[in-house]
Amino acid sequence: MSLPTRPIQILPPQVARLIAAGEVVSRPLDVVRELLDNALDAGATRIALEVAGGGLDLIRVRDNGCGIPAASAALAAERHATSKLSPDGAGAALHVTTLGFRGEALWAAAQAGELHLLTRPAAQVGACEVRAHGEATQVARVSAPAGTTVTVTRLFAELPARLRTQLAPAAEVREITALLGRYVLHHPGLSWRMVVDGEPRLTHAPADPRGAVASVYGPLSANRVMAVEAPGISGVVSRPELTRTRRDRMHFSVNGRPVQAPPELEKAVIEGFAELLGAGAAPLCVLNLTVAPEDHDPNIHPAKQVVALADLPAVAARVRAAVSAALAAHPLARAVPALL
Ligand code: ADP
Ligand code: MG
Repeated sequence: MSLPTRPIQILPPQVARLIAAGEVVSRPLDVVRELLDNALDAGATRIALEVAGGGLDLIRVRDNGCGIPAASAALAAERHATSKLSPDGAGAALHVTTLGFRGEALWAAAQAGELHLLTRPAAQVGACEVRAHGEATQVARVSAPAGTTVTVTRLFAELPARLRTQLAPAAEVREITALLGRYVLHHPGLSWRMVVDGEPRLTHAPADPRGAVASVYGPLSANRVMAVEAPGISGVVSRPELTRTRRDRMHFSVNGRPVQAPPELEKAVIEGFAELLGAGAAPLCVLNLTVAPEDHDPNIHPAKQVVALADLPAVAARVRAAVSAALAAHPLARAVPALL
């Protein structure tokens, strides 16, 4: 059997661009995550998210962070353009200390939709407005408050196939709300707002991890969590009386990035409870892990939700010990021998 021979061709640039952008941004949730990451990387303490039409019509994130200096504004939506590499260059991407580092989120948003930026560092007199779509970028000087507002509209409007595979707006909004909740849980001390289709939906301004649990899951849950503190681990875990039949409230972040937890880490938390948890039960936990930049690789996938930890068994053992130590303070735990 022989296949017809056809010449190999390079994809037209606009097609290659859409394919690459589609890996970074496959749904509105991805854009929201990237914009929240940018706001956190900018040191913002107030972050407001607005979505309309499930994010397909509009996604807007406004922050009071450091802003983009006028000299850099034109580059913000360029591909592989980032201010987050340390000056030593090449190897720096392997030592990631910020949430962003690939320099493609704004670029991808400008390919998959239309991007509008309004940005001003506090010390700069005027602001910059950037509009980018496809290959075109326009920059204008305007006046605006300090901080950055990024707006993405008409997401996938030119990608009908992508548009057809999107969730219904209400379902996407539910997932975006859950994502925002994870950011709130892992970054207490900031103030967050969410507006959906023009209606204020949520405000979170928790002072600490327990307050974050109260804000996201309610005071009943917050009253049943205990602090977990160990080298490289901080957060909260629920008391044994607050358990769930699913692992849907087990949250982990690695160096500030909410991540999809490797099952080994969930298991380590559950093992930390020993017999205090019934079979199949799962606790609520919010655990922030800090690892040396060279010990983890967030660069497995463009969406950066999966991280590879250099020594997962060691991290899991630390998590198990930290949870078990936190529980040792609990009255029910006294009869149980300490576990490692
Ligand atoms: P990355 O975050 O990987 O650097 P992005 O495409 O998300 O790439 O952003 C490009 C650059 O634009 C960032 O490196 C940063 O300098 C700037 N930027 C983006 N969003 C913000 C923001 N909210 N505040 C300040 N600067 C921002
Ligand atoms: Mg980014």
